[in-house]
Amino acid sequence: MKKIVLREDEMPTRWYNVVPDIPNGLLPPLDPETLQPIGPEKLATVFPMSLLEQEMSQERFIDIPQEVLEVYKIWRPSPLVRATKLEEALGTKAKIFFKNESVSPVGSHKPNSAVAQAYYNKREGVKRLTTETGAGQWGSALSLATSKFGMECKVYMVRVSYDQKPYRKFIMQAYGGEVVASPSMDTKTGREILTSDPDTPGSLGMAISEALEDASSRSDTNYALGSVLNHVVLHQSIVGLEAKRQMEIAGEFPDVVIGCCGGGSNFAGLVAPFVPDYLEGKKIEFHGYEPASCPSMTGGKLAYDSGDVAMMTPLLYMYTLGHNFVPPGIHAGGLRYHGMAPIVSALVREGIVIPKAVHQLECFEAGILFARTEGIIPAPESNHAIRGAIIEAMKDPNEPKTILFNLSGTGVIDMPSYDNYLTGKLSDYAYPQEQIEAALARLPKIG
Ligand SMILES: *Cc1c(COP(=O)(O)O)cnc(C)c1O
Repeated sequence: MKKIVLREDEMPTRWYNVVPDIPNGLLPPLDPETLQPIGPEKLATVFPMSLLEQEMSQERFIDIPQEVLEVYKIWRPSPLVRATKLEEALGTKAKIFFKNESVSPVGSHKPNSAVAQAYYNKREGVKRLTTETGAGQWGSALSLATSKFGMECKVYMVRVSYDQKPYRKFIMQAYGGEVVASPSMDTKTGREILTSDPDTPGSLGMAISEALEDASSRSDTNYALGSVLNHVVLHQSIVGLEAKRQMEIAGEFPDVVIGCCGGGSNFAGLVAPFVPDYLEGKKIEFHGYEPASCPSMTGGKLAYDSGDVAMMTPLLYMYTLGHNFVPPGIHAGGLRYHGMAPIVSALVREGIVIPKAVHQLECFEAGILFARTEGIIPAPESNHAIRGAIIEAMKDPNEPKTILFNLSGTGVIDMPSYDNYLTGKLSDYAYPQEQIEAALARLPKIG
């Protein structure tokens, strides 16, 4: 079978929460002012209670609301595909399967959480959501989700992407989202930055600060984050739950599960439902692939750090390169984040997830091979997972092993990156260790 497709009524009706199954658990998020564990009251100014409950939950299974399932049905269940043509081209005895999350209306896994977040906010009376977006994947997912629940959405889009990558801006606008270049004149933070530096290209950190300021200043408005947090990982578990079911139908169990890691949500979503198998002693490995130019797990440190430059977010215990780390402009925008989800970080700490770093040229090479064999042009982020699958398949091409990776998104909205690669304009870049050390030296000091 090339493609394993579930019926609509076979879609999982509960998300799986891996937190209670993580050996030694998670450390709590801290209030950036008091450095004490942060209470839900403080976060309730920008998040709805139901998402805060999920954030702290120790329940293994949480029901997916009917309204969310209905929206999921626009593209879910997503197919699991055996990459037979890629296997042939590589000349490997390994079986390579991929979960195709590129089939969502905005071309990535991100609506799995955006739809859930919009729903819970709506249910608690919130009329408007704000968020930040870099290249625009999360902004388009949230614009789609808010449109489904009749809510407003305001997206602070990093200036340089706003100017250079306008297509996702058009997607957000088509769904009714309001998009401004960040820093903007719409917030105090934005105005201050623009006064001192009118030509700034902007950054994710600045955009987060603007979106948070907007959400905390209006009672009808909340804020939504597209990765890193526990509730985002919870929503993404639908990816792994479906994939596990589909692997069973194919009569397979993976030896290795692979994903690309930006904030960690698509990887954790695929891996989490297999963690109990690992803990029961089944032979299975989890490989998380990050760019060598933004190596939070392989080059950073496990510590409490802030999620944004202005230090407005709670401090999270995670692998980090420091909140002042400025990632170079590599062509996988979704992987340019200084931190890693606390859940993924804890799985790395416990030796359950094995982190790996790869360079962008080998990833684009893998993506091009995938496009010419399997016919799908992958997102530059997903190329990291494909590269990982190829490395695994070619370690010993005669070993018949089973590999499962997540195709987190499509690349057709990112063609300028492919143009740069195909015309030889891309190069590899490993972040100098001294500069990582400099950014890490500015981590918040916790007693
Ligand atoms: C955002 C994004 C990523 C990285 O985010 P994670 O939270 O690490 O999953 C990866 N792939 C695609 C296609 C994305 O849009």
